[in-house]
Amino acid sequence: MIPQVYDSPIFRMACQQFDLVADFLEIPESARDRLKMPKRAVSVAMPVRRDDGSTTVFMGYRVQHHLTLGPTKGGVRFHPDVTLGEVGALAMWMSWKCALTGLPYGGAKGGVTCDPRALSIGELERVTRRYTQELIPFIGPQIDIPAPDMGTNEQTMAWMMDTYSLQSGHCVPAVVTGKPVSLGGSLGRKESTGRGVAYLISRAMDTLGINAQGATAVVQGYGNVGGVAAASLNRMGLKVIAVSDAFGGLYNPKGIDLAKLDEHVAKTKSIVGFDGAEAITNEQLLITPCDVLVPAAMERQITGDNAAKIQCRILAEGANGPTTPEADAIIAQRPEIFVIPDILCNAGGVVVSYFEWVQDLQSFFWDEGEVMSKLYRILEQAFVQTINFSRKRGVSMRFAALSLGIQRVHEAKQMRGLFP
Ligand code: GLU
Repeated sequence: MIPQVYDSPIFRMACQQFDLVADFLEIPESARDRLKMPKRAVSVAMPVRRDDGSTTVFMGYRVQHHLTLGPTKGGVRFHPDVTLGEVGALAMWMSWKCALTGLPYGGAKGGVTCDPRALSIGELERVTRRYTQELIPFIGPQIDIPAPDMGTNEQTMAWMMDTYSLQSGHCVPAVVTGKPVSLGGSLGRKESTGRGVAYLISRAMDTLGINAQGATAVVQGYGNVGGVAAASLNRMGLKVIAVSDAFGGLYNPKGIDLAKLDEHVAKTKSIVGFDGAEAITNEQLLITPCDVLVPAAMERQITGDNAAKIQCRILAEGANGPTTPEADAIIAQRPEIFVIPDILCNAGGVVVSYFEWVQDLQSFFWDEGEVMSKLYRILEQAFVQTINFSRKRGVSMRFAALSLGIQRVHEAKQMRGLFP
């Protein structure tokens, strides 16, 4: 039974994935709800003064999925579609992601239902500070540590850290990760998700025997994850032939000049109108023939409707939840597609967030080389464990990754027991 507060297509999708894995792992019925249902959810109505003197009440949420292994961890999303159900599903995925990569955290996620592009800088700051203020009793370096997600960035984290620190009476950098380096952020954190995506793609290409030189990539979402992944793939020798953002898509079979595209984006805040490629729709982009398809935007993009039409060798999920269970069933019948599932593919972000938290707690900072080599070591281990599980047990890469994550949280809960 899904509690009404979370009920939504995306929460049902996360539960459906969990239920399939729980059946496979033969997790006893009595342990399932305890593993699946988020521990805590906070919903806040936040009155915020607008630049024109009026007041808007924004809704903010934070869901903490489980507290078994340490504090909770996960991003904060500013987007018009944010709901408690979406945040709950994303928190659940964070739990399996942290467990898969061996981080001492439960999953969490937060969000504010707003369109950050329609807010001025001053309004964004007031929304962020109000949201942080409302969450003061629920967050902290040993409780729950937010980070950036869609629609938020280093500046958002700086405001959150400042608001929390003012309340504490002293500087508390470890309350959030993804901060500017000048405020105790980690070197490499900003690029970590996208570089991790590219690292795992290179491992998948090794596995499949695909040569990077001249291979083609299509990237949906040209934000912090997709943009960095595209640049990294380009450096590895791949041609990025199509990209998109929330406003439209671009296609150039000869390869898009990303440095020029970045200049265009810096000027116009969108990829639309770039003259080095032709315009395509998001639907066309997803079914463009390529070696590597990277959905790095919203969830539920590859669905029962288009899964039979995608034409890639590697599906590298930079976004959280981009592929629905209906699409998974179709992709399962297409062994030519190698899936790097979201909780593995985009884990680089939270892994370096963990490094940032450790550095902040110790007030001892690492150089970028140390951060990156530790990141790749963790991703390598998670990749090898997932592919081995997948082969040994005859299940998909997604199923293997989820199984490893869920099994670890299940074991930890069994060991801790039930109190009282
Ligand atoms: N929002 C990112 C994710 O979905 C990063 C979370 C974090 O760094 O805590 O994994």
